[in-house]
Amino acid sequence: MSRGRCIAVVGAGLMGHGIAQVFACAGHRVSVHDPDPAALGSVRERIRANLELLGLDPRPAETVRLCEELEPALEDAELVVEAASEELPLKQALFARLDRLTGPETILASNTSVLAIGELARDVGDPGRVVGTHWWNPPYLVPLVEVVQAEATRPATVERTMALLAEVGKSPVHVRRDIPGFVGNRLQHALWREAFALVGAGVCDAETLDTVVKDGFGLRLAALGPMENADLVGLDLTLAIHEYLLPSLDRRPGPAPILREKVAAGALGMKTGEGFRTWTPRAAADTRERLVRHLALAAGERARERPGQA
Ligand code: NAD
Repeated sequence: MSRGRCIAVVGAGLMGHGIAQVFACAGHRVSVHDPDPAALGSVRERIRANLELLGLDPRPAETVRLCEELEPALEDAELVVEAASEELPLKQALFARLDRLTGPETILASNTSVLAIGELARDVGDPGRVVGTHWWNPPYLVPLVEVVQAEATRPATVERTMALLAEVGKSPVHVRRDIPGFVGNRLQHALWREAFALVGAGVCDAETLDTVVKDGFGLRLAALGPMENADLVGLDLTLAIHEYLLPSLDRRPGPAPILREKVAAGALGMKTGEGFRTWTPRAAADTRERLVRHLALAAGERARERPGQA
């Protein structure tokens, strides 16, 4: 693996510090910029804590360079990963600055969850070097990164980005069109739409819904994707099921009424103690920890199955 590339991460929040961690652990020179001194100041501590929780060497945390200003963070950067707050005007202004402050060979990548890459790149002189890199939280435990090609993105930009991500042990996939939600979030929210509709209609309660996924087909999902699964059961059977079932699935174009009601009532989930489920601070912390433990075990399993990848 070639080491010592310069990588800049712009935005040091939940995603930014974890993305910085991935590149730092692979031995690259990582610079992080965030205008918020508290966010910037917490980066090394957060990375150290993540690594210690996983029983890994925390020293890469110390190698991350923290930059109060944007310009020094971009010095010699081969790849800039923007992970700033999800606001279109903010990101557009940031990309215009990144464009002015970096050379033509630097790849400018955005970690936006939903915004169109083409729109972010509106004020970039050469939008051919702008690409989406949609990481998943926590970025150091979830292997997938969706590499999103906007209309103007050069194929070479996609190839170089995929190669850089593969080099640091991620599982990059090429999304050929810049559409809302890319691939992963479209699939995830198609499931959530039906889940909210079922609970809203009183077919089952929220706990039961979660049990159906976690104790049922959710167990299979990490080993068998839907396309493989359809082939496994047979496309003739899949067609028959879809003929019968699809007309009864929820297809409202907007958010479910039960979701709007919860939000209007201030039941926002873990942060308010009440959402679809009820959360004590302890229960919320336990659930978060359970998730990290589960993902860490899965990462260990993958590492055993695919030696050579981080
Ligand atoms: P966050 O709020 O934790 O962090 C955003 C950071 O951006 C903050 O520290 C803020 O100070 C900083 N920021 C604001 N303006 C900036 C600027 N001009 N330059 C540099 N930094 C600036 O948010 P997050 O959850 O880390 O999300 C960051 C991006 O990643 C968003 O686009 C989000 O949609 C996307 N994303 C989030 C998740 C997730 O699960 N949270 C998953 C995938 C993608």
